[in-house]
Amino acid sequence: MRDATPTTIYLSDYTPFGFLVDSVHLTFDLSEHATRVTSRIAFRPNPQATDKTFFLHGENIKLIHALIDGAPVTPAVKENGLTASVPNAPFIWEAEVEIDPGNNTALEGLYMSNGMYCTQCEAEGFRKITYYPDRPDVMSTFTVRINGDLPVLLSNGNPTAKGDGWAEWTDPWPKPAYLFALVAGELIAHPGQFTTRSGRDVELNLWVRPGDEGKCAFGMEALKRSIKWDEDVYGREYDLDVFNIVAVDDFNMGAMENKGLNIFNSSAVLASPETSTDANFERIEAIIAHEYFHNWTGNRITCRDWFQLCLKEGLTVFRDAQFTSDMRSAPVKRIHDVIDLRARQFPEDNGPLSHPVRPESFQEINNFYTATVYEKGAEVIGMLKTLVGDEAYSKALDLYFERHDGQACTIENWLKVFEDTTGRDLTQFKRWYSQSGTPRVTVEDDWADGIYTLTLSQSTPPTPGQTDKQPQVIPVAVGLLGPNGDEVRGTEVLELTGERQRFSFEDLAAKPVPSILRGFSAPVILEHNRSNTERAFLLAHDTDPFNRWEAGRALAQNTLLRMITQDEAPDAQYLDGLLAVLRDADLDPAYRALMLGLPTQSELAAALHEQGETPDPMAIWRAVETLRQATAQHMQDLLPRLQSEALVDGPYSPDAEQAGKRALGSAALALTTRLDGGAMAAEVYAKADNMTLQLSALSCLLRAGKGQAELAAFYDQWHHDRLVLDKWFGLQASLAAPDDAPRIARALTEHPDFNWKNPNRFRALLGGLAMNHAGFHHASGQSYALLADWLIRLDPVNPQTTARMCTAFQIWKRYDADRQDLIRAQLTRVAETPNLSRDTTEMVSRILGT
Ligand SMILES: [Zn+2]
Repeated sequence: MRDATPTTIYLSDYTPFGFLVDSVHLTFDLSEHATRVTSRIAFRPNPQATDKTFFLHGENIKLIHALIDGAPVTPAVKENGLTASVPNAPFIWEAEVEIDPGNNTALEGLYMSNGMYCTQCEAEGFRKITYYPDRPDVMSTFTVRINGDLPVLLSNGNPTAKGDGWAEWTDPWPKPAYLFALVAGELIAHPGQFTTRSGRDVELNLWVRPGDEGKCAFGMEALKRSIKWDEDVYGREYDLDVFNIVAVDDFNMGAMENKGLNIFNSSAVLASPETSTDANFERIEAIIAHEYFHNWTGNRITCRDWFQLCLKEGLTVFRDAQFTSDMRSAPVKRIHDVIDLRARQFPEDNGPLSHPVRPESFQEINNFYTATVYEKGAEVIGMLKTLVGDEAYSKALDLYFERHDGQACTIENWLKVFEDTTGRDLTQFKRWYSQSGTPRVTVEDDWADGIYTLTLSQSTPPTPGQTDKQPQVIPVAVGLLGPNGDEVRGTEVLELTGERQRFSFEDLAAKPVPSILRGFSAPVILEHNRSNTERAFLLAHDTDPFNRWEAGRALAQNTLLRMITQDEAPDAQYLDGLLAVLRDADLDPAYRALMLGLPTQSELAAALHEQGETPDPMAIWRAVETLRQATAQHMQDLLPRLQSEALVDGPYSPDAEQAGKRALGSAALALTTRLDGGAMAAEVYAKADNMTLQLSALSCLLRAGKGQAELAAFYDQWHHDRLVLDKWFGLQASLAAPDDAPRIARALTEHPDFNWKNPNRFRALLGGLAMNHAGFHHASGQSYALLADWLIRLDPVNPQTTARMCTAFQIWKRYDADRQDLIRAQLTRVAETPNLSRDTTEMVSRILGT
C-alpha cells in the first residue's frame, strides 16, 4: 500500500463542498476479492459554495465505469480521488467500482474479519468503498441493497425489502458518509425490544458469531438502560424501528456509532462472568451507552469538519460519564476518570504530541482520536456545566438539539447556544478549545482578623506551536474545613479568569483548612505547597469524596518522591491515615479500594521531571515496591477483616456493589501476597469461579514472581477464547519484573497465538509492555527495540494501529541522555523505513520534534 505525500490540512482553509447530495443509492455485490459497488447519487449545485469543483474522494478502488445523467463519462482519476466536468444543474452520478475486502488489512472501508464483511468509515474510510464527497458536512439519505450468499445482511436505517441472497435497507435520516455501515456474515442475534416514550417499538439485536451467544445478555441490558437514560435525562428518543449492534474481532477502535448499526470491537461488547472482569463489564456498559448517545450527539447533529471532532466526542464522553455516575457511584467514577486523564491525557498535553482540544491542522485525522479530544474535550463540557449551572446547561442543550438537528456544526455553534441561553460571554472560555497544554494553578493563602484569603495564579507552559499562553477561565471548586474537621464553608465555585486573583472568606472563627479543586473541577495541575499534616487532615476529614481521595494520593506521591530522591523511609502519616480510612466500614468498598491505589510509575517520572530531576525507572520501581511492602506490614491486622468484608453473597453480578467488594478484596489480596508469599492468592485462584477473581489472584502471583503453574493452567483453560487470551498476553508483559520484561515480551511475540495482525492482540502484548514502566525503560534498550521492530512490521498492514502505538515513546524527553539516545535511534529507524504510512510518518516526526 502506498500513501499520498503528506500534506497538512488547516481548519482556516475550510470551504463548503460545491454540491449538495439529495440521495444515495448503493448496491453491493459481495465477493471476497472483487466486491462490486454501484452508486447512484443525486447531486445539485450548492448555492452556499463558491468553489464548484466536482471532486470525489476515492482510494484503493478500481473504477469500472461512470455515468452522468445516463451518459458515459471518463473522469480524471488520481491517487486520492477523481474529478469530472458536470452540469451547473441537478444531475445523477453513477459509478461502478471494484474493491478487495479480503486483502484490506488496514481495517478501514469494507474489510473481512473471520469470514464476515464489515465496515469502518470514520474518519475517512468511505472513500475506500466508492467515489464520494467523503466529508462530514455532506449529508444525505442512503438506500443500500446488498447481494451476497450470507445469511445476515445489514446496513443503516430500517430494513425495507429482502429476498434470497439479498436485502435492502433505507436510512431516512440524512447522514455523512462516515456513518455508513454494512455487515454481512453468519451471525446469530441476541434479540431485545424497547418501547420509546412516545410509543415507538424498537427491535434491538446484538449480532455475534456462533459460539458467542452466551456473552450477549449484559450488553443488551446495558443498551436498554442507555436508551431509557437518554430519554429521562436529555429528553432524546430513538428514531428508527431497529437498532443493531454487531461484534467484530478485528477492529482498530473500541466501537463505532454508525446510524442504527453500531459496530463494536468484540472486546467492548461481549461479556460473561467467567471470561470478563468487573472492569470489563463497566467499560462495556460505558461504551454501549457512548455509541448509543452518539445517535443525537454526533449523528443527528454532526461535525462540519474533522477539526470539530470534540463537538461530538467531548460531549458524548461527558454524557457517558454522567450515565455511569448515575448507574454506579459518582465519586468512584470521577476518581477513575481523573486517574485515566492523568495517565493518558496529561502526558499528551505536556509532551511533543500536545494539541488543542480543537486542533487547527493535521496530516492524518486518524492521529487525532486522542485523549485530548475525547477526555479533555469532556472536561471542557463539565467545566461549562459547572460555570453556567445545571438548569442553564439543560436549557442550552435543548436549544442545541432544536436549533441544529440535521446539521453539521462547529464549536462556535455549540458555544452560541450557551451564550444565547445564559447571556454569558464565552470568548475567554473558548480558549479551552484553542490553547493546548495543562494549566498550572498555584495557591497561596493568608489568614488575618477572621478573614481567610486564597490567592490563585495560573500559567501554562509552552507547547509545540504555542509559546504565548493566555489566561483561561478556570472554575475552582473550594470548601473550607474548621480545625475539628467540620465543614465551615460548603463548596463554592471560584472563577479564576486572570493570571492572579484573590478570593476572601470572611467571618471565620479560626483559620480554616481549604479543600481546593473539589471534584477535580478543572483539568489542571494544582500546585499547592502544603504540609503532610494538612494533607493527612484532609484525608481524615474532607467532606468532598474526590478531594479526600486526592489528599491520600498527594501523600502517597509525596512520600514516594522523597523515598526516590532522598532515600527516606515511607511516611508514617500516610500509612496511619490510610489505615484509618480503610478501617472505616461505612465507606464504600470501591472507594476504599481506590484509596489503596498509588500514582503510576509513569506519573512519578513526570512529577520528578517537573521538579527538575531525571527520573530513574528502576529507582521508581523500587520505591513503589518498598511502599507496597510497608503498607502490607502496616495493615497486617486489618487485611483479614477487609477480605471478609469483600465476600459476596449469592451468584456473581457485575453490579457496582459486588464489583466494589471484589475491588477491595483484590487490593487486600495484593497486600496479603506480600506477607504470605502467595499462599492465599493461590487458594483464591484455585477456587475462583469468575474472571475478576481469577485474574486478580493470577496478577498477585505474577507480581510476587510466582504463579508459573497457574499461568500454564490459565492458558490451558482459556486458549480457545480470544478475548481471555488477550488478557494472558497482556498480564505477562505488563507485570513481568523489570529485568525479565524484554525477554518475556520477546518470547511472547514468538508464541503461536500471537496473531499480531489482530489489533487487540497486538495492543495486549506490546501495549502491555509499554505499560510496564521499568520493564519498557530497561537500560538495555531491548524493549524499545522490540516495540520498534513490531511497529515497522505492522505499519504496512495496519497504519492506524501502528501510529497509535507510537505514543508509547511520547514521553522520551523525560529520561536520561542514554535512554534518550536509545529511543531516538529506534524512532529514527522507524521514520526511515521505506514506504512508511502517512499515519506513522506524522506521529514519529511529531514525537521526534522534526
Ligand atoms: Zn465517540
